[in-house]
Amino acid sequence: MHTHRADVAVLGAGPAGCVAARHLGQAGVDVILVDGAISTGSHHVESFPPSGAPLAEDIGLLSTICAASDGPASAMMMNWRDMSEIRAFEGDGPLLLRREALHSALRAEAGMHARMLQTQVRKIVTSDDAAEMTTDEGAIICRMIVDARGRRALKRQGSDLVALPFDARGDVPDYTMWLDALHNGWLWAASLGGGEIHGAIFQKASALAGLSSQGRRALARHQLLHASAFSNACDLSVGPPAAAGLSAMRDPVQSPRHVLIGDAALARDPIASHGLVHALRSGVQAAVAVRTILDPTGDTQAALAFLRQKHVEAVSSAREATARAYRDQSRFTGPFWAERSESIDAKTAPQIGSGPVTLADPLTRAPVLETDRIRWAPAIALPAQNSFFTQHGTVTARDIAVACRPAAPLQEIATRLGRVHAMPIVFDVLQHLTLGGAFAQAVPLPSNKPCARVTSHPSSREIMRDNVS
Ligand SMILES: Cc1cc2nc3c(=O)[nH]c(=O)nc-3n(C[C@H](O)[C@H](O)[C@H](O)COP(=O)(O)OP(=O)(O)OC[C@H]3O[C@@H](n4cnc5c(N)ncnc54)[C@H](O)[C@@H]3O)c2cc1C
Repeated sequence: MHTHRADVAVLGAGPAGCVAARHLGQAGVDVILVDGAISTGSHHVESFPPSGAPLAEDIGLLSTICAASDGPASAMMMNWRDMSEIRAFEGDGPLLLRREALHSALRAEAGMHARMLQTQVRKIVTSDDAAEMTTDEGAIICRMIVDARGRRALKRQGSDLVALPFDARGDVPDYTMWLDALHNGWLWAASLGGGEIHGAIFQKASALAGLSSQGRRALARHQLLHASAFSNACDLSVGPPAAAGLSAMRDPVQSPRHVLIGDAALARDPIASHGLVHALRSGVQAAVAVRTILDPTGDTQAALAFLRQKHVEAVSSAREATARAYRDQSRFTGPFWAERSESIDAKTAPQIGSGPVTLADPLTRAPVLETDRIRWAPAIALPAQNSFFTQHGTVTARDIAVACRPAAPLQEIATRLGRVHAMPIVFDVLQHLTLGGAFAQAVPLPSNKPCARVTSHPSSREIMRDNVS
């Protein structure tokens, strides 16, 4: 059998693996991209949120994604709260993507920069400076493995939420999405042109246990009867059930030679959407981390810490978004809904008074992406967001630490920073830090004192979170 050699083996040519392989290959790294599947299986249509477009554009894949799309959804019909709702998108709806077309377009992009190998990976062994995989097509020896094999990459706790994918035809408006709460689950579907409907019914795995494919089809038929838009749907077919619950690996760094990305590291519950955006983002982050590790002058520890930190942030924001989406549902009550509505991670920043404040923790360090390498930078811990602040615009963590000496009311800290930096950015940063729990009172707050607030600009938290770094 053949032995393949490469600097990096990317395992899994889904969105995450394709992006990582393409990025590494574009940077001149010798990459082999390995995938065992012939078809993408499972469900057929996904939505790509408009908030993912800037990232896709940054990494040069927006036109590829658009080309794999049948166009944006024009409306979302929701039976999620007490009253039915129609959300019209007016041109900025999520893109409806055919999964198969998306995967093959991304594979074609990756194939321009990486060698492709169609085979199933069976076993991985890593040492201090190399990794070896056993596949059906022989061995692969490399220096780093980027593992993007999706939910099945490594053994993990079974998900109690499964998706039963279905396709049907019906007399429904074109390019529309539906979100319906059911007694013990929920349904998402999208129509393309000509009455073509694709969707999935999400429910507890136990609801499908022991059912044959005919039994699953009968169940789907019964459940669709309760979704008003699909009660007359015909040509119904169902696909194999797929795990769909939120599932996160504890550590995305399996060893210094083996890192997990995309669904292999964190599989989001589709109720919180953004699985594709997470896959793309983690592919880029891994590529930069791997380039740092392969660079003899790069800091491997900073690169691995970067991947861990991004994972912690992604897991906590996925948990928050998932619980929020389930909590938002008000048509049904019951254990299915209650179990999923609880926020596990929810932390809130300590309230600070209008008196003098200081940093809650001393300045520390966090890994940051700078140009195309990861390095350490001075940082302020944001415990309420499981993250760190290093810099926003011209304002650095060190600037904040200096402005906090001596302790002073928040407004005074803003004035000190405003002598050197533009005021709007100072307000943005202080608001972000306050929400993140960066500050503590320098003297205990009397119980009747009002709470401090910096005024004026909307939080930049989402902006800071949403970019690749
Ligand atoms: C029912 C459902 C609906 C969803 N809807 C949406 C949506 O509307 N919008 C959205 O953004 N996200 C959605 N998601 C999530 C989205 O599909 C995933 O987040 C995304 O596909 C993850 O990409 P990935 O590259 O990490 O993994 P995957 O897309 O799972 O790719 C993994 C690849 O690894 C390969 N592989 C696996 N094991 C091996 C092996 N041993 N050897 C070789 N190759 C292997 C597989 O063949 C596959 O090509 C949905 C998920 C589900 C289950």
